[in-house]
Amino acid sequence: MFAQRLAQVAPSATLKAAAEAERLRRAGHKVIDFTAGEPDFPTPEHVKAAGKAAIDANFTRYTAAAGIPELRDAICARYKGQYGVDITAAEVLLTNGGKQALFNAALALFNDGDEVITHAPYWPTIPEQVKLVGAKPVIVQTRAEEGFALHPDELIAAITPKTKAIIVNSPCNPTGGLVDEAALTPIVDAAARRGIWVIVDLCYEQLIYEKVPHNLVKVLFDRHRDRTVIAGSASKSYAMTGWRCGWTIAPKELTSAFNTIQGQTTSNITSITQKAALAAVSGSQDGVATMLGEYRKRRDNIHAWLTAHPGIKCVIPGGAFYLFPDISSLLSADGVKSSAEFASALLEKEHVAVTAGEGFDAPGYLRISYAASMEDLREGANRILRFAESLQPARASVGG
Ligand code: PMP
Repeated sequence: MFAQRLAQVAPSATLKAAAEAERLRRAGHKVIDFTAGEPDFPTPEHVKAAGKAAIDANFTRYTAAAGIPELRDAICARYKGQYGVDITAAEVLLTNGGKQALFNAALALFNDGDEVITHAPYWPTIPEQVKLVGAKPVIVQTRAEEGFALHPDELIAAITPKTKAIIVNSPCNPTGGLVDEAALTPIVDAAARRGIWVIVDLCYEQLIYEKVPHNLVKVLFDRHRDRTVIAGSASKSYAMTGWRCGWTIAPKELTSAFNTIQGQTTSNITSITQKAALAAVSGSQDGVATMLGEYRKRRDNIHAWLTAHPGIKCVIPGGAFYLFPDISSLLSADGVKSSAEFASALLEKEHVAVTAGEGFDAPGYLRISYAASMEDLREGANRILRFAESLQPARASVGG
């Protein structure tokens, strides 16, 4: 009855856990929720003020589908400041979050049967969007014991004559892994030789804790600018998930194709959001640094607390706000058999919601978002340890 293309696409795996957590909450339990893919911080005051001022000034009409020129210019200026690259407004288009940025790219670039390479564990939207437009995701694995580093040779080996694009996500959801300049460079060179598009999802670009060379924009612009798409977002950097603001940076002709797609589908992103995003992108970046510092402390704590149990193995993630522990040694044929079962039993017994690795093509793992208060992290870690202890005694505790 529905269109064929839907048969290929899976719904979001996190929704089930979220619904179950909500059921327990309504039953009066204190549920600790580590499933959130969004900052727990409020949107900064100056950003909210710009949104309110936009309403009061009746800035409530359609804008150009690509977004207001001031915001497109401000994005160019931010990339110049952060990455040292020159971009013109004609290469920038505002989207309903990074999600629509990636979807515009999929719609504009992929034909039926095209192959699109990306790396796993992945954010499920990436392969699902590829499938939604009739193309085929080709997955290259990254490994926990290597900090989920992307091996360029493995990715390049996956290229075939059908490869249309490579999608790279760094910092990565769910692993927190980073793709550094040295890993990206040979991939970009291989793509350039074959005319393959490179799409980089930089949604978490402001959330990097380690000093790694991460000027991916410069690498792409220097070597392969005419077939590069950058997907950016205000969601995580400025705690603006609900405002829906992302953007693409792409060659003029492709940006104009995005403009056509968006002009016939959603048109401009919310006018009020654009004014708020202008304040976010061009105003003080102090809030970004404050949030980063806070996430870093949380990351270090939750990592130390959980890995006190020998059954929980976890690399320290270099970016984003997720911990991606391997809990496979806590699983057994006659007990909790999979990470999916682990996540539902943990929710049922200890009222802690986490996302099972299965949804990210990584069975045996859990995704724990540390975009949560330190108090919740401490309490949640204690509960997880108690649950792990019930499966495999090791006498670990967070204390205090
Ligand atoms: N890319 C990644 C890797 C993400 O995790 C997300 C949000 N979960 C996005 C893009 C898009 O977020 P938004 O649409 O809110 O910008």
